[in-house]
Amino acid sequence: MAKDYYETLGVGKNASQDEIKRAYKELAKKYHPDLNKNKGAEDKFKEINEAYKVLGDEKSRTHYNQFGTADFSGFQGGGAGGFDFRGFGFEDFGDIFGEMFGVGGRKRTRRGADLRYDIEITLEDVAFGAEKEIRINKLEKCSKCNGLGGTEAITCPECQGTGMQRITRRTPFGMFSTTSTCSKCNGQGSAVKHQCKNCDGTGRVEKEKTIKIRIPSGVDEGTSLRITGEGEAGEKGAPAGDLYVVIHVKKHNIFERDEFDIHTTIPISFVQAVFGDEIEVPTLDGKARLKIPAGTQSNTMFRMKEHGIRSMRGHIGDEFVKVTIQVPAKLSKKQRELLEEYAKESKDEINLQKGFWSKLKEAFE
Ligand SMILES: [Zn+2]
Ligand SMILES: [Zn+2]
Repeated sequence: MAKDYYETLGVGKNASQDEIKRAYKELAKKYHPDLNKNKGAEDKFKEINEAYKVLGDEKSRTHYNQFGTADFSGFQGGGAGGFDFRGFGFEDFGDIFGEMFGVGGRKRTRRGADLRYDIEITLEDVAFGAEKEIRINKLEKCSKCNGLGGTEAITCPECQGTGMQRITRRTPFGMFSTTSTCSKCNGQGSAVKHQCKNCDGTGRVEKEKTIKIRIPSGVDEGTSLRITGEGEAGEKGAPAGDLYVVIHVKKHNIFERDEFDIHTTIPISFVQAVFGDEIEVPTLDGKARLKIPAGTQSNTMFRMKEHGIRSMRGHIGDEFVKVTIQVPAKLSKKQRELLEEYAKESKDEINLQKGFWSKLKEAFE
């Protein structure tokens, strides 16, 4: 079925490319399905795109004028010059909308790349949260041209601002045209008259940047913190990507983490265990005192409330201190004498062993 594309776009048969483009943009804005939720808007939008795809390109327009139809299907078999309109939709022109509305654009508003930075922090950082400074090399918006790549914006001369390039190839079956993103403007549709020397027209320059990062308390190994907009700058003023900071917690030399609690082991002498004592124990923020009651057995666990890690919600874990009783490996003469005296005086060992053997006997009976 023959369609009047001039009528669809509301322009005269002698309209210039600029007029056609303007009419198209006007209508496309009106019927873009992201903006116009009325029934039929989407179909109308497709029609407008179809019309513009033909009239917006000098070659296909001539073709259309000559045959009075855009129904090229009849030519495909004959190889006279097939344009394939199948699957034609917003995708092809999504780029233009990126520029026009800042929505749905794919190539036009190419966002900067996301970056990843791996950071090693201490358990103390985890416990209380921390502020870190990191330095990364990344593409930043060129300050000389404000990311635009130059001054005085002009319509891209290669694609006349459509952002699309039509490549026609001669094949044994006839001429074939394919449409792709304009390589000169990268689909932007615009160029600059005076290219920025600082960034060679790319709008971006590589720079080392120092970024402050706030690490919340209670983070886990492998947690990824997203820092919005600190990735690479986008092309030609497009939004920057994000920076993902991945947390790695260094192994602590005395503490082991169990979610928000921490565990440590402290040696005490057998005398301290026997008589009891008040000892100094390390915590994540310095030292604290812990009372060891008289008669403490080896491997007894003591709990120090709220000396652990603060969760993001403000809950504070505990510190668990396990004491191990150290047996002296070397004794002075005097110590040996005293202990021998003690052994004579004491039936402890014998009683202990008696208890053990009787238990074992019970188990076998
Ligand atoms: Zn620049
Ligand atoms: Zn171009």
